[in-house]
Amino acid sequence: MRPSVRDLVASAAPDELPAYVYDVAALREHASAVRAALPPAVELYYAAKANPAPEILAALREAVTGYEVASGGELAHVREAVPGAPVAFGGPGKTTAEIAAALAAGTERFHVESVHELRLLAALADRAGRPADVLLRVNPAVDGGALDGVALAMGGRPTPFGLDPDAVTACLRLLRDPQLRSLTLRGVHAHLASGLNADAQLAVARRIVTYAAGLFVTHPVPHPEVNLGGGMAVDYADPEHRFDWTAFGAGLAEIAAERPELTLRIEPGRALTAYCGWYATEVLDVKHSHGEDFAVLRGGTHHLRTPVTRGHDQPFALLPVETWPHPWPRPAAGGGRITLVGQLCTPKDVFARRVPATGLRAGDRVAFAMAGAYAWNISHHEFLMHPRPRFHYVG
Ligand SMILES: *Cc1c(COP(=O)(O)O)cnc(C)c1O
Repeated sequence: MRPSVRDLVASAAPDELPAYVYDVAALREHASAVRAALPPAVELYYAAKANPAPEILAALREAVTGYEVASGGELAHVREAVPGAPVAFGGPGKTTAEIAAALAAGTERFHVESVHELRLLAALADRAGRPADVLLRVNPAVDGGALDGVALAMGGRPTPFGLDPDAVTACLRLLRDPQLRSLTLRGVHAHLASGLNADAQLAVARRIVTYAAGLFVTHPVPHPEVNLGGGMAVDYADPEHRFDWTAFGAGLAEIAAERPELTLRIEPGRALTAYCGWYATEVLDVKHSHGEDFAVLRGGTHHLRTPVTRGHDQPFALLPVETWPHPWPRPAAGGGRITLVGQLCTPKDVFARRVPATGLRAGDRVAFAMAGAYAWNISHHEFLMHPRPRFHYVG
């Protein structure tokens, strides 16, 4: 935690907590290091769904080529937050209104997820008199255990995402039809898994590139593009253990050297922004219940849902506060482990279970780390009608 973040958390009044504190300077540094680790020709898009806060999108602008959006809402939002930045529109279940708006907004790439969607896009592009550039989102079979043990697989198996190889063939056939002349095929997109380390990412990337290159042999595309997706691993159990961007960049350079005709693109979300966010709050109470200690924190997983959705302990830093304003004894943890919970009336409202926090007292501050991605924006804010957190962006 940088001093600027620590000072803000330490000096906030209790009713100014909980607060999300984003270390924008750290984000810029991290994103530019990621950019520097990649071969210059590899394009870096940011998947906005990880954290679409305008300040975050703007902070990434220098390091990224563009932004991947997965809804009409994200599309309009990104256009406004980072005007002029290239946008790729993906996601299953695009509506007619979303596609029409995306066409009107001049969206640079459409990631097409089904044969029906391709036809719908073509019809709407025709009607609007606006051509559209298309990547087919492919879901090839991935054999050989490349996806074994992966946290979440969006491809290489039955999913609602992307096109099976026979549907890819059907799309390619349709794209040669003069009736679909408003669409230009630019290449393929794949996003098959999340939580992959650099070696596993490269193994998957090689398979996608081999599959795509095979398609481009029978269906030539000028300057074909291959979007390899996101899903770079983030290790919440060990914040210091980061995705090896250097090894990944070196592997991508090898792939690029073997296939100089391809433009490669990646679109990470979590691995770019997870580290820059903190969810800071105070301990309201410390209780002993049937042999275990619980710290009840101001706020809860309705603000920071990440540990519940992933089933992990959110890493945190403790900031002791020496003053205690009441004449009665200060509730404090014993010497052992403690479970950190929020204010919600549900046993699921747990940030971290039986973690070491010796001597934690009511009034102390707790700042949860790695709260910069899939945190506030995936949380069920309205549940129980507690106040919203504050938001700070420190430079
Ligand atoms: C969510 C998503 C991403 C980003 O995934 P991360 O795990 O955050 O890197 C990229 N591409 C697509 C299509 C996605 O749905």
